[in-house]
Amino acid sequence: MSELDEATRRKYLEEMGITVWSSRALQAGDESGEVSAEKCVSVGVQEEGKVSPVPNVVNDSSDIPFPEPLPVEAFSDDFPPVPSEMDTPPETGVPVSSPATIPAGGDTWEGLLHEINHCERCHLCKSRNKVVPGVGDQHAGWLFVGEGPGFHEDQQGEPFVGRSGQLLDAMMAAMHMKRGENVYIANVVKCRATNEFAKDRQPTEEEAAFCMPYLERQIDLIKPKIMVALGKTAACALLNTGREVTLGSLRNKTHVFRVAGREIPLIVTYHPSYLLRTPGGKKQAWQDLCTAMDIYDEEVKKEN
Ligand code: URA
Repeated sequence: MSELDEATRRKYLEEMGITVWSSRALQAGDESGEVSAEKCVSVGVQEEGKVSPVPNVVNDSSDIPFPEPLPVEAFSDDFPPVPSEMDTPPETGVPVSSPATIPAGGDTWEGLLHEINHCERCHLCKSRNKVVPGVGDQHAGWLFVGEGPGFHEDQQGEPFVGRSGQLLDAMMAAMHMKRGENVYIANVVKCRATNEFAKDRQPTEEEAAFCMPYLERQIDLIKPKIMVALGKTAACALLNTGREVTLGSLRNKTHVFRVAGREIPLIVTYHPSYLLRTPGGKKQAWQDLCTAMDIYDEEVKKEN
């Protein structure tokens, strides 16, 4: 890796609250003394309930950037909602097709994207500005799944372009990854959900259920080696659980997502919006991502 790349990656790791430290030996000029994040972190595929060791490069840093006020995007994890994030029942729009319906044109990316972009399955289509199907490499090894578009995503038609998107980019950079390169980013729900005050809100379980067949088809077409669910809405939708579960109970496990006879490992971590509000969670998020990287490496090995 070039010095510049390493410097950029360090900056991102620091933004995630992860300190890449140099030992005294290194400071004294012995290069072997450097401990990089990836050298310290080796968690492997985890068994149920086992918590991966916290890499010793991770500190509890109180100086993490991004501890800003609440982001525009409003997402609920294990975190009390603030008034603007409160769920309000969706307006009385009536879903027009069964949640179980497989998208008709979904055999090809072209057909599927056409279906998604013209979707009127639920009332969210009425208030959307742009549909947000997803972005990235359509044959990526990695798939990140978020909740649904917020204000900025609805404006631009691309997922994770707001502040939480910046943090997601930073997280990926720390993993040596870049938007669009071996990564696809999608959401459970493709249209922005808003409350009565036109603020972003969490999509309801029903809205998520109506949109899930699209995500399933995307997953089937992408055939990722690893999936990362960002936050509880994505995790519950992908794992088909009710939202009464806590995100904590879904972390530290390697789940399996089954689609069209394939089994894809799935890791659950915090939503970047949650991490913006709760920077202390970045340490655990980094552990989750390291687990995902180990699983990905294993999957690549299996193929070769
Ligand atoms: N949060 C999400 O879950 N998805 C987006 O696309 C943006 C913010």
